[in-house]
Amino acid sequence: MEKACRICQNKKDNRKHVFREKYFGTNDEFDYIECSVCGTLHIKETSKELGKYYRGTYCPHSNQLTARESMVTKLSKWLAEKGELTSDICHTILNPFISVDLGLEAFFRLSPSPFPAMRILDVGCGNGTYVKRLRISGFGNAFGIDPFLPEYLLQDADHAFQRSEISQMDDNQHYDIIIFNHSFEHLALPQNALHHAKRLLADNGQIIMRIPLAGSQAWSIFGKEWVQLDAPRHLFLHSIKGINLIANRAGLKIRKIRYDSSGFQFWGSRLYCQGKSLISGAQHRSIIRFMMQLPARQFDELRALYYNRRGLGDQVCLYLAAQ
Ligand SMILES: [Zn+2]
Repeated sequence: MEKACRICQNKKDNRKHVFREKYFGTNDEFDYIECSVCGTLHIKETSKELGKYYRGTYCPHSNQLTARESMVTKLSKWLAEKGELTSDICHTILNPFISVDLGLEAFFRLSPSPFPAMRILDVGCGNGTYVKRLRISGFGNAFGIDPFLPEYLLQDADHAFQRSEISQMDDNQHYDIIIFNHSFEHLALPQNALHHAKRLLADNGQIIMRIPLAGSQAWSIFGKEWVQLDAPRHLFLHSIKGINLIANRAGLKIRKIRYDSSGFQFWGSRLYCQGKSLISGAQHRSIIRFMMQLPARQFDELRALYYNRRGLGDQVCLYLAAQ
């Protein structure tokens, strides 16, 4: 195998894999390389037709607030307007309600400055859900960038969004928190992205990166049916070793690693093992079948917790800072 790893440049003993597109169920094939040194899995050639694999319904994160989230975000905004949105409030009131799916817990724990004033940049913000949720929760300096930003977000009254790559951002604004919330694995030039994130980071700033993880237990169990492979959209399945390497090169270091995988790694991969797409699995879910699956889903979540505690989960939240 001659193809070099794009992270550590190793050429020896790398394995070739062929993964299929399964989210929409097109079953189109894509070649991937697994590095024998750093463990990174990456696509061999980025598809020239990548855009067609991001059509309308590819949206892993829901745009809708649940009633509970809506209530908590209103409370949060009210507290922010009164100047009462403190670290303690975030931890005790907001964190248990909205941290899990929004990933907010990460910067509730890290913030060195008062929360409402914090400058936050969400890189690869997609449809802007996360930034909007931050803003309605009182974080008025949250911004989002995405090279494929939808047109309607450019008209946003708060000017919170830019259609941009991180490399195109100029230096006149620095950020206390830069977030890659399941976007880093979609980037063709991860080393370059980290270099620019470091450039845009304020003093004592933090980078929060949530990514699926190569070499996880789910990968060992399900192999090419592992739901988070997500070929061809996930250009990289990074490893901790690989991220360490490119972070060092960018003048950054990993400060903390938190495994945050969920039952999705099991039930999503089971759907793929059954030859179903993720879309069809959701569409065909009747209420009766859903109720019957509930115990299995609960078991999946418990199993994910067990995996996370032992460092076996299939995704992590990494906290990076300047060296
Ligand atoms: Zn490598």
